[in-house]
Amino acid sequence: LLEQIPAAVPDNTFVLIEAFKADTEKKKVNLSPGIYRDDNAKTWVLPSVKKAREILQADPHLNHDISPQMGYPDLVSVARQITFGDTLGSRSITSMQTIAGTGANYLIARFLTYVAQPKTVWLSNPTWENHPKIWRHTNPAIEQRLYPYYDYKTSTLDIEGMISTMKEQASRGDVIVLQACAHNPTGLDPSREQWEAIANVCEEKGLFPILDSAYQGFATGDIDNDGWVLRHFATRSNGAIEFAVAQSFSKNFGLYGERIGALHVVTRNHDTAAKVEATLKQISRAEITSTPGFGAKVVATIVQNPELRKQWQQDLNTMSGRLRDMRKRLHDELTKRETPGNWGHLLTDIGMFSMTGLSQEQVTTLKDMLHVYLLPTGRLSFTGLTTGNVEYVAESIHRVLTL
Ligand code: PLP
Repeated sequence: LLEQIPAAVPDNTFVLIEAFKADTEKKKVNLSPGIYRDDNAKTWVLPSVKKAREILQADPHLNHDISPQMGYPDLVSVARQITFGDTLGSRSITSMQTIAGTGANYLIARFLTYVAQPKTVWLSNPTWENHPKIWRHTNPAIEQRLYPYYDYKTSTLDIEGMISTMKEQASRGDVIVLQACAHNPTGLDPSREQWEAIANVCEEKGLFPILDSAYQGFATGDIDNDGWVLRHFATRSNGAIEFAVAQSFSKNFGLYGERIGALHVVTRNHDTAAKVEATLKQISRAEITSTPGFGAKVVATIVQNPELRKQWQQDLNTMSGRLRDMRKRLHDELTKRETPGNWGHLLTDIGMFSMTGLSQEQVTTLKDMLHVYLLPTGRLSFTGLTTGNVEYVAESIHRVLTL
C-alpha cells in the first residue's frame, strides 16, 4: 500500500533551516525564515509575554482543561477586538480560535469547499508559499489562479494589472486571498485608495475575500493603522460584503510555537452567522477537537491587562522599529557600494520581507559561496539582519551581483 506513495517536494523554508543548522561557517546569516530575531540574531521572548506567563503561572487555578468548541472565550473576544476595533457595529460575525494563521487559512478553505465549492481561488503573484499548498491539500479540484501583484521590473505594486485581471477574469463565487498588511513575500501593500478599489471589485464581482492577517502590528507598530483594511471591509457598503479574516498571533506576540490564531467570518445576517458557526464546529471537531490553551491565555492576559497591553505596544514598536532600522542599514550599505539593482523600495516596503531581485542561481551562489541564506525566490527576511552582519550581507549581495 505505502510503496506507491509519490515522492513529495520538500518545503523550501524547512530545507533551508536544516541546511543553515548544518553549516559550520561562523559568518553564516539566515535571511530566510519569517521569525523575528533580536539584534544578536536570537529568538526574542516579548517582555509582555514573559510577564503574562508569570501571572498565569502564579495563579493556583490555572488548569489544562479543554476550551469550548469555538476556542478560549477571552482569546476569541480579544482577537475580534484587535482585528476590528469598534467598527463591527451590528454586523454579524462568527469567530473561532484556530491553530495559528495556517490553521485559520486551512479552516476557511475547508469551510468554503464544504459549503460553497468555489471554482477558483485567486492568489497574489507572488504569495506566501503555503497558500497554494493549503488550497491544493484542501481540495485539488479548486483551480488556483494568480492575480498580478508585484511588478518585478519596477519593484512596485501592479494595481492596474490586479484590478483589470479581477474585473475581466474572475467569476461570481470565486475566492480571492488578500494579505491585510506587510505582504509576504514582497513587503508591498496597497494604499488605502487602492484597497478601496480592490474592495469595490470584490463587491461588484461577487467574490469572497479572505484577508490573511499575519502581521498586524509589524508594519508600523500600530495595530489600528495596520488593521485599516480589515475595518474597511467591515464598515463599507452597508454590510453587503461577506468575507473572512485569517488571523495569526505567531508574529505579533512572538508565540510561534504556541500556534494561536483565529478565523472571523463576517456575514450579512445572524441566521447565516449561526449556520457558519455550526459548520465550523463540525469541521473543527473532526480535525482538532479543541484549540491550544496556554498561548491563548497568554494573549488574552496581555490584551486585557492595561499595563501589559502598554508593554505589548512597546514590544511591537521594538520589533517593527528594528526591522525599519535594518531596512535602512541594508539600503545604505548597498547604495554606498553602488550595487547593481533597485534598492529604494527597501525603505518603502514594510514588515519582515522584501524581494531582492536575485535569481535562483544567484541565491544558490550566495548560500554556497558566502553562507547567506535567502529563499530561492530571492525573498529576504530582515529579521536575520543585525548591526553585526549587515555589512557582510551587503558585501555578499554586492559580490554575487557583480560576479
Ligand atoms: N499568512 C502569511 C501571509 C504568513 O506569512 C504566515 C506565516 O509565515 C501565516 C499566514 C501563518 O503563520 P502561522 O501559522 O505561523 O501563524
